[in-house]
Amino acid sequence: MQRLFALLLVICLCFSGVSAQHRCVTHDVYLQNSLQYPTYGQAVQAMYQSASDWASSNGWQKSGGVYQIPVVVHVVYLTPDQNLHDSIIYSQIAVLNEDYRRMNADTLQTRAAFLPVAADAEIEFFLATTDPDGNPTTGITRTSGTPSWGTFSPFDDNVKFDSLGGKNAWPTNRYLNIWVCDLVFGFGILGYAYPPIGTVPNWDPGVAPADSRKQGVVIHYPVFGRNNPLATGPLASVNRGRTTTHEVGHYLGLRHIWGDGDCTMDDGIADTPPAASDAQQICDWLKNTCTETSGPELPDNIENYMDYASDSCMNMFTQGQVSIMRYVLENFRQELVGLPLSVHNQTTANGLVGLFPNPTSDQIQIYLLSADIIISDEIIIGDVHGKICLTTPLSTIDVSNLPVGVYWVRITTNRGEIIQKFIKK
Ligand SMILES: [Zn+2]
Repeated sequence: MQRLFALLLVICLCFSGVSAQHRCVTHDVYLQNSLQYPTYGQAVQAMYQSASDWASSNGWQKSGGVYQIPVVVHVVYLTPDQNLHDSIIYSQIAVLNEDYRRMNADTLQTRAAFLPVAADAEIEFFLATTDPDGNPTTGITRTSGTPSWGTFSPFDDNVKFDSLGGKNAWPTNRYLNIWVCDLVFGFGILGYAYPPIGTVPNWDPGVAPADSRKQGVVIHYPVFGRNNPLATGPLASVNRGRTTTHEVGHYLGLRHIWGDGDCTMDDGIADTPPAASDAQQICDWLKNTCTETSGPELPDNIENYMDYASDSCMNMFTQGQVSIMRYVLENFRQELVGLPLSVHNQTTANGLVGLFPNPTSDQIQIYLLSADIIISDEIIIGDVHGKICLTTPLSTIDVSNLPVGVYWVRITTNRGEIIQKFIKK
């Protein structure tokens, strides 16, 4: 029955793909999984809501710390030309770093209306140097694929499993896995990603889409990298590696700026103006499908990476999107960037332990709002790269020698562990 359902969806998408150039099926894969597993849909929506709430209540803050994400690229090829050269893979990592650091040359094309909100995400990517067994690696795996249907499908996730003719993920909590393969439907679908999810109750391990082995990004091979020589014909408009920039955005919790619906559907981010449709892989600078409900009237933000314009006119993330991505890294994908795991669900001390002052330049004090809370172990301070900077039994801590940046404090109490963030200025 499930197979039949998947087949029907595949056939529907195939037709829509031909006419509407269905660039990214992240939302369709989400819908299919939500229909099959309602708790999955609830968990993803809870993540979106929590990220959106956090961003709207905290506003924009320049973060002060660069997160670095280890990447493994799994090239799964069916023909020799799909076995992309290392240089193509390096070019894709370079594109990601330019786009996520706002160091891309085409920032000059960001329209004046969006310049005030265009932002550096302070997220960087590097090919992993250590494999899951601790051995040196290039961060690239190469596999001759043998998919049972003759190709790879987003709805089967067969590229992600040795047993289905693909390549098993490296531990998805520690690596961003990117699979590059021949995605079924060719031009119709260029990529997809799984959004992060929190703890899903009542899950059926190994079957449900919450299966952590599926976490990551899948990209159609001709559009991977910059100036991939296989991005010809209609694919020439998507040859700058921005499909991967877009899919990694989904992986870090972003949604399409048009909210996958009309003007009433939102992406949960205040500084991306509403839009009623995607940018159709062209550069229509006059496109304005919705009237703003407040503030100045803005055109559709087609230069946003989370729209579907041509690669040549994508050039920005907004501050709101950056806030969401960093929140997701800090709360749903901590181990990826070496942060301590949040233990929010295992403590009853939340909200009863705080840091003051924050930001600080010289010392930080841990305050307890309940006489029932007792600090029961040494306090640990670490940086955004996961390195432990100091440990101390004291609740007033001299941090004057720490470099400027963002830090994490792990406080162990009689009611569980608390992770708090502070900024050293
Ligand atoms: Zn998308």
